[in-house]
Amino acid sequence: MAKQKIKFLIVDDLEGNLLVLDGLLRREGLELLKARSGPEALELLLIHEVALAIVDVQMPGMNGFELAELMRGTERTRRVPIMFVTAGAVDTQRRFRGYEAGAVDFLFKPIEPHILQSKAEVFFELACQRDELRAAAEENARLLADSRRNEEELLRIRDELAMANISLEAKVQERTARLRETITELEHFSYTITHDMRAPLRAMQGFGQMLVEESGQSLSPQAQDYLNRITTSANRMDKLITDSLNYSKVLQHEFELQPVDARKLLLGIVESYPNLQPPQAQITLDPAIPVLLANEAGLTQCFSNLLGNAVKFMKPGVTPTINVRSEAKGDCVRLWFEDNGIGIAKRHQEQIFRMFQRVSRDYEGTGIGLALVRKVVERMRGRVGVESEEGKGSRFWLEFKVCR
Ligand code: ADP
Repeated sequence: MAKQKIKFLIVDDLEGNLLVLDGLLRREGLELLKARSGPEALELLLIHEVALAIVDVQMPGMNGFELAELMRGTERTRRVPIMFVTAGAVDTQRRFRGYEAGAVDFLFKPIEPHILQSKAEVFFELACQRDELRAAAEENARLLADSRRNEEELLRIRDELAMANISLEAKVQERTARLRETITELEHFSYTITHDMRAPLRAMQGFGQMLVEESGQSLSPQAQDYLNRITTSANRMDKLITDSLNYSKVLQHEFELQPVDARKLLLGIVESYPNLQPPQAQITLDPAIPVLLANEAGLTQCFSNLLGNAVKFMKPGVTPTINVRSEAKGDCVRLWFEDNGIGIAKRHQEQIFRMFQRVSRDYEGTGIGLALVRKVVERMRGRVGVESEEGKGSRFWLEFKVCR
């Protein structure tokens, strides 16, 4: 905002005196209002706010004192400081009258320029400071009003947000409940379907088997080949259904965590599967494999899948050699399943833990095993991963809390 000029009023009936005062007082930031009589001065005072009135005492008509008295009588001009200009000495009585009328000072003619200027300077400075204070007060009031408005606006927004939040939460809860319901229905649905598909499949497997046994020899080689393909497909389908069923069971199952002797469990698995024993495979178990905080059924699924894969993904003619090693990691332990198989390229190492992801199509499989392992491990609050290079064997690992 442009700074307002400070205004002084000079009142004198003689044009020459007005000119002299004008010449002496003129300065930047100051506007001089000139009046040639008391009434003219009062008119100007009605319009302008002045910081000082310099008033000649001897004027025809209304003299300076009379003008001052009128100014004192009006609220608007009551506090305007008045400096009287008078010729020659002023007797005490007149001086009293002047002070009573509101004079702050007397100047004597002939006027001493530097006295006038330094006195006027005091009033000019005072007026400047008063204007600055007034501007600061106005600015403060404006800021205060702004901050009140902001505060009100903030309160309004806070209330709106609270309302929005409440309705959002209600919506999220409702949708979550609906989603849960849908998921449960879907799980139930897929479990029922896969379960019910087994009966006709078993019939296909059984009748195929009977056909091979009873009339296998009398069939043409081509018919025998067709029959083999039918039973192989039925077996594959059976495996797919078993794996899917296991997976959906895991989704619905809560795994209670308890101490499990992992080494003992591994030994039991190796002993129950001939393909994990010599001469078909060499499996070494680290004697330091500790007792884990996990779930026995869950761990059995993980171990048999990892060991099954380790012996399966081999180059033809190579004897699977598997080392199960344990590595302490703070209050956890990492079990490594290291094999000498075909390995897995880096780019496939993430995807193999997802459903139906198979990298090596030359081997039998459903692509569910590792997805199942990951799910089960997560349910047991553990972790799973793999390190491998194509052609250089794989090192799958499982990590669980150790029981102390
Ligand atoms: P599946 O064994 O039924 O194919 P998995 O989910 O167990 O399904 O494994 C997914 C894929 O990960 C496999 O098809 C194979 O390409 C790869 N894989 C798993 N284990 C090994 C392993 N020990 N060595 C090499 N590749 C493996």
